[in-house]
Amino acid sequence: MIHKLQAQNVHYLETSFHIGILEIIGVHGEEIIDAIKSAVPKDFTLRLFMGMVRNSYQGVGRKIIDDFPNWSALDGVDLHGPEDLPLEEWTERAWTEARQAGKETKAHAGEFGSVENIRAVLDRLPITRLQHGNAVARDESLVDLVRERDITLDMCPVSNWKLRATSDWASHPLPRLVKAGVRCTVSTDDPLVIGNTVTDEYLAMAQFLGMSREEILQVARNGWMAATVPEELRKRSLEALQHSG
Ligand SMILES: [Zn+2]
Repeated sequence: MIHKLQAQNVHYLETSFHIGILEIIGVHGEEIIDAIKSAVPKDFTLRLFMGMVRNSYQGVGRKIIDDFPNWSALDGVDLHGPEDLPLEEWTERAWTEARQAGKETKAHAGEFGSVENIRAVLDRLPITRLQHGNAVARDESLVDLVRERDITLDMCPVSNWKLRATSDWASHPLPRLVKAGVRCTVSTDDPLVIGNTVTDEYLAMAQFLGMSREEILQVARNGWMAATVPEELRKRSLEALQHSG
């Protein structure tokens, strides 16, 4: 999979595995993360996130959730799954502990869900990254809040289109949010299900979302701004983008 990404000039990947996998195979999460990371080529950066849903704190999930903030190999957490499930108490505690342990903290909100879903997540979880967050564009004060809190929106236009999270290309909020100065990145969401590539996402920005070369370049820069990499690599990668094309 990484070879296919490298062929598209991708140098950095954040991907997540679902907590349920650990429950099924019964192997300690850190062991799996170490195994995956040991297979990554030297000139490529992989960051691994554990994803869980809003009601994952049950059964074996409890033990894993109480424990993961101590897993040094884990780079961060993501809350995904149905947005209409209530945000439970444990999530705030686990996300706070993850943050204190220096991990990235993401949450899916505003993909299919409402402005209120995003507000609830921003009110209660110390997140650094909002996954999709399409609904942010529906509320000016939310646009301001996301900018103030310096939160990155990781958007997936092709997935949104295929899953009908957006009714048509013209109403996709990415161009508006980029113009408003929100730090947006694009990525493939769930490529095994969606069947898309990073290149498809960039083509969509140019062909379907009508974004300018400079705006698209800004999105690529945003990826490096949000990436958890050493400053030296960030600087070098941003410079390489500046000189591209
Ligand atoms: Zn997603």
